[in-house]
Amino acid sequence: MNGKSERRKRRLTVPREQIAWYPVIDPELCNSCSSCYDFCPKEVFASGPVEEGLRRRPKMQVANPYRCIVLCSACERECAAGAISFPPREEFEQFVEYLD
Ligand code: SF4
Ligand code: SF4
Repeated sequence: MNGKSERRKRRLTVPREQIAWYPVIDPELCNSCSSCYDFCPKEVFASGPVEEGLRRRPKMQVANPYRCIVLCSACERECAAGAISFPPREEFEQFVEYLD
């Protein structure tokens, strides 16, 4: 989470489905370590389908993008492979209002 701002009371200015804030995984960089899956409290991530003939674990996928907390980007730091990215934060600040 992002320190204090994540603990403040907040509301979204438009419905969540209209806000394209969520992580994107670069499948070339993802090493299937599951750190993001273990870390995210919102169950945004899930393992992708098992690829036939391949013995390695399936790559991670963003299964529930709209469960991601708008302006949270904490999982980006958890991914040692640098596979997770987010859109520019300043374009999304307009969608969050703080009530206190
Ligand atoms: S933390 Fe990064 S490398 Fe590990 S499963 Fe998630 S996206 Fe892939
Ligand atoms: S930014 Fe936060 S809520 Fe969104 S996927 Fe990452 S850890 Fe989960």
